[in-house]
Amino acid sequence: MSRVIIIGAGGVGNVVAKKCAQNDSVFTEVLIATRTVSKADKIVAEIHEHMPNSRTKFSTASVDADNVPALVKLFNSFRPELVINVALPYQDLTIMDACLETGVHYLDTANYEPLDVAKFEYSWQWAYRERFEKAGLMALLGCGFDPGATNVFTAHHAKHHFKEIHYLDIVDCNNGSHGKPFATNFNPEINIREITANGRYWENGAWIETQPLEIAQDIYYPKVATRKSFVLYHEELESLVVNFPTIKRARFWMTFGEAYIKHLSVLEAVGMTSIEPINFRGQQVAPIEFLKAVLPAPESLAADYSGKTCIGVQARGIGHDGQEKVHFVYNVCDHAETFKEVQAQAISYTTGVPAMIGAMLMLQGTWKKAGVYNVEEFDPDPFVAAMNQWGLKVEELAGIELVHD
Ligand code: NDP
Repeated sequence: MSRVIIIGAGGVGNVVAKKCAQNDSVFTEVLIATRTVSKADKIVAEIHEHMPNSRTKFSTASVDADNVPALVKLFNSFRPELVINVALPYQDLTIMDACLETGVHYLDTANYEPLDVAKFEYSWQWAYRERFEKAGLMALLGCGFDPGATNVFTAHHAKHHFKEIHYLDIVDCNNGSHGKPFATNFNPEINIREITANGRYWENGAWIETQPLEIAQDIYYPKVATRKSFVLYHEELESLVVNFPTIKRARFWMTFGEAYIKHLSVLEAVGMTSIEPINFRGQQVAPIEFLKAVLPAPESLAADYSGKTCIGVQARGIGHDGQEKVHFVYNVCDHAETFKEVQAQAISYTTGVPAMIGAMLMLQGTWKKAGVYNVEEFDPDPFVAAMNQWGLKVEELAGIELVHD
């Protein structure tokens, strides 16, 4: 018997809501609150149409999640145990403030990012630790796929395969095709800010900065393809090197096609990816926000998407037997199958399923501690078991090095 509020009704919110509806013995009452309430209403209509047997009771509301008093009012009227924040990273702190004010647990899938600085890091949210501890509340940060499942996979390596992890490579391949000349798979603003920023990886106790997409290599993604992959900075690196201090080097790799990079380079060159507002006919407009408005909405790509994603974590280090070893833990997800199941492409699916699982483990008390935590700080076993149960099969490959020095 759990009451939950989902904030955000985009690509990821759609999946979280539908997975909650499948898991109706845990999620008994769910309110989907978002800025444009018609999007939440559409999700609920689809649930009633495609999942008529779900016993989860859904309702919807309109809320501006940048506004703490509005959130407090909403939380006080619905009285949830937990809020699943799948709006945008800009809203993390206001939602955490409202949770503290109303005594509600918190979960998100992306770390805080200020609207006017293209920078993301955990410091802002880690600063809430003491307040959550004192309030007896839990905040679980970054519980999507990457971050999220990738943190769980790293904890799984540390628990089951390695005495010491020395080299960590997180790899993210989307080998799918949506048939559009250019589109982003999740919120364009967040996606483009992430890719056009400088790359960064951890080596020997320090961050090494690179130019955007400067380092690349061909990586074989099991059951999917060999694809050119680029080093970029990704938020889970920040917490993983803190929580697994034996790591000497940690990198994050993502695939991008030639056409994607060409479009992005042109958009960047003409200033369309800038977050600096410009004056346009008397109105202040950030070019990237305008670009978002003209690009296809990520959720609209789902119907025609084909192909697969493969996201995983390769670890190298010393095994429990004292010998050097390499091991890969990963998931392969099929765009067409996720569309059939929840009318979503695989990027939204691989984010939304872990968010539902994290929420379930918190509500059941399996993962429960007062304070602010990253996913790898908990026992990975129940999470991996739940991934296998709820649509994301976890696979392993021993002894083959997929990512090289
Ligand atoms: P979308 O842009 O599709 O959806 C975002 C939703 O949040 C929309 O419904 C939007 O409303 C709503 N929203 C935005 N601002 C506000 C606000 N101020 N108040 C209330 N609602 C608001 O994004 P996605 O679904 O693709 O992504 C959701 C989150 O998931 C993002 O934070 C993203 O970074 C994260 N993510 C995490 C991944 C992971 O693996 N960890 C991978 C992919 C995404 P409206 O429609 O009115 O704009």
